[in-house]
Amino acid sequence: VSEQAIAGALIADFLSGLVHWGADTWGSVELPIVGKAFIRPFREHHIDPTAITRHDFIETNGDNCLVTLLPLLNMAYKFRTQSPEALEHLYPWECFVFCLTIFGTFTNQIHKWSHTYFGLPRWVTLLQDWHVILPRKHHRIHHVSPHETYFCITTGWLNYPLEKIGFWRRLEDLIQGLTGEKPRADDMKWAQKIK
Ligand SMILES: [Zn+2]
Ligand SMILES: [Zn+2]
Repeated sequence: VSEQAIAGALIADFLSGLVHWGADTWGSVELPIVGKAFIRPFREHHIDPTAITRHDFIETNGDNCLVTLLPLLNMAYKFRTQSPEALEHLYPWECFVFCLTIFGTFTNQIHKWSHTYFGLPRWVTLLQDWHVILPRKHHRIHHVSPHETYFCITTGWLNYPLEKIGFWRRLEDLIQGLTGEKPRADDMKWAQKIK
């Protein structure tokens, strides 16, 4: 495994954390479009964490697939049209992009597996045990209310260092200082209503 591939996996993990943190922490489920399409699924996931295990493959991976299709097609096109010398030059970068898009595409699938306790294929539980992908026990830390840490859901590699430096808390303090918005204010109201 090259450094570029590891960097790709790390960036994918970070982005999964950033998106998840944003949707868990800020905004309201009542916002037009993003509220319903984006924030609500994350918030509902805290109330019913096993619901995603009942989603089929398309429902789980469809959206992310659409987003990552373009870079993958672009890569396939380059591999067909560029000279071998040019490709050799491009190779490290393409390794990075490939790993980033593959982990990006399957983030929801990996997250779903982290909630699945029965019937997982052996190779999936091995990848979890080796912490190549998000392990079940590791992700459980995020599911403790008020859901303020361990946001990364692809490999989860960054959760420990980010927690150690108080990354999300510091970012929340900064945003609260700038905007006056309180983190998770809407989530608390909303979760109350649901109960
Ligand atoms: Zn969450
Ligand atoms: Zn979860």
